Amino acid sequence: MFTFNTYLRVKALTKDNLIQNEEKKKNIYREIFLKINDAFLMRFNSEKKHLSCSQCKNYSTVCKHSPKNPTEKLPKDCIYRFWQEKCLYELETTISNSIIKEIKKINQLRNKYTCQKCAACCKLASSEYSYEQLKERAQNGDIFSKQFISIFVPYKNKEAARKVYPEFFDLLETKYKQDEQIYFYYCPKLDKNDLCTDYENRPDICRDFPNNPLVIFPKSCGYRQWQDEVDVKALTIHAMVEITEFYKEKISIALKD
Ligand code: SF4
Ligand code: SF4
Repeated sequence: MFTFNTYLRVKALTKDNLIQNEEKKKNIYREIFLKINDAFLMRFNSEKKHLSCSQCKNYSTVCKHSPKNPTEKLPKDCIYRFWQEKCLYELETTISNSIIKEIKKINQLRNKYTCQKCAACCKLASSEYSYEQLKERAQNGDIFSKQFISIFVPYKNKEAARKVYPEFFDLLETKYKQDEQIYFYYCPKLDKNDLCTDYENRPDICRDFPNNPLVIFPKSCGYRQWQDEVDVKALTIHAMVEITEFYKEKISIALKD
């Protein structure tokens, strides 16, 4: 459905073209987002065909045209509240299940590629959270943060991180500087030959890396081709997740008495 693949090819990423690519990606995402939102509204409206206004005691000329968006607050007796419930049910079941299916498909495609053991992801991990924030999140039950602080320690300063992998450091800094703060970490379990000394016990975040094709990969990563292969699909899924969550929340609020 979407033919933007060529825009997203990032073969030789540099600081300058990263910014351009990020801008392009944002524009592409915006387009995808709007198309999917329209598709959702069409789907919602098709669910309403068999309903017609029962002219309850709240009837007004507005009711003639029926609500166009299931997030609207409707009177308690309005027949279209059934429609809102149906939309919410669809979002929570069929639509959510199809998103999960698509995510699985994307992750399966990852198996076509292999880790090149460059160790970049062990030497230079990044997070929008400081070490203190990660600890707090871990204490509050966040599994990712828990695993992250179980292996990674923060670099003393940004210069120390930059020395390890200047090119990748610059890319990450450039990308995150546009939106948020970034902190750099390394894993002390790596030996001098860049091999993991605790490979059998490494946590899931190591086993599953990279599990998100929308993040920046080091140039040396063996999964860059996977990223190229699935980028538009991943943006589409991302938009679907955002839109689904939005409608679920807004329809639930609209249905509250
Ligand atoms: S535990 Fe092993 S695989 Fe995980 S980051 Fe550390 S060195 Fe890399
Ligand atoms: S950056 Fe990619 S290729 Fe390098 S060690 Fe990590 S997963 Fe493997």
